[in-house]
Amino acid sequence: MRNRVTLAIGFVLAGLPVLAAAQPGPVATPAGPQPLAVTKGSEYTLEKWADGVYLATGGTGSQSCVIVNDQDVLLFDVGTTPGGARALLEDVKLVSDKPVRTVVNSHFHYDHAFGNGAFSPDVQIIGHRFTQTAIKTFDTLHREPYQSWINRAQDRNLERSKEIVPIAPTVTLDKSLVLKKGNREIRLLFLGRGHTAGDVVLFLPKERIVCSGDLIEGGISYMGDGYFDEWVTTLEAMKQLDWAVCLPGHGRPFSDKAHVTALQSYLTDVIDQVARIRAQNVPAEEALKRLDLSAHEKNWLPRMRPLDMRGMRRIYQWLEERAAR
Ligand SMILES: [Zn+2]
Repeated sequence: MRNRVTLAIGFVLAGLPVLAAAQPGPVATPAGPQPLAVTKGSEYTLEKWADGVYLATGGTGSQSCVIVNDQDVLLFDVGTTPGGARALLEDVKLVSDKPVRTVVNSHFHYDHAFGNGAFSPDVQIIGHRFTQTAIKTFDTLHREPYQSWINRAQDRNLERSKEIVPIAPTVTLDKSLVLKKGNREIRLLFLGRGHTAGDVVLFLPKERIVCSGDLIEGGISYMGDGYFDEWVTTLEAMKQLDWAVCLPGHGRPFSDKAHVTALQSYLTDVIDQVARIRAQNVPAEEALKRLDLSAHEKNWLPRMRPLDMRGMRRIYQWLEERAAR
């Protein structure tokens, strides 16, 4: 959330290139692509990126991609709570009167999947097989990243969070699932492990749009469930898809594949530095202090989200897993 707000400010600055150029100081983030139209709902704002393709921003949790087809609507990610997902359903009515028949979870994290409880059993919920396993068996309500959120957000979201019962996808994919909806072709693709072990992207080949979940965001993604070297490879596969706009799970849409390269280089540097620090038997808490990622700050203006302890612990654990392979 905080990332999204600061990035939005970056956007406002970038909208004033002449002024920015005339002023000394940090370089403003280059202006990204702009939506074709914007519809304000009661809780969400629906940005139109192609005919029938919207990015819903402003709710609690992830952004959602809304795909309006001939007969029905598909939602890619549904936010943190059933109450929030119901608000999304209401706001989607501003752009379509067709029923939502399909939900896709990009991955298992609460802010993308815990809204699943808002949907009746006749709505198909699709996710990677790992996402189904994670929601069914990981005790996600008593695990990161949900725990930090609920501790932080108690006052604001207590009423809505009470009704959360994690619901797993009912339809799974391992590699890909192609949905043909009238003229629309929707490809759900697992390109490899990365932000989690089961990230699915939604790719619209005709519209040249990709919805990336948290595999890549406007800012730097949460690292607590990452597979770091594979993540770099998976991002490479995502770059090979023919898209003109990426609608991420958090933060502003972007067109420049250099943004993906920036995350690859950040991840590669994190892996190298942490591996070197860990080899000196430095505990994870101390490693966080020694890490120097300042070289990447220019790619993540106006402010780079620092790696947190949950991310550092996961990198330690992952390095151990890698060494055992
Ligand atoms: Zn996530």
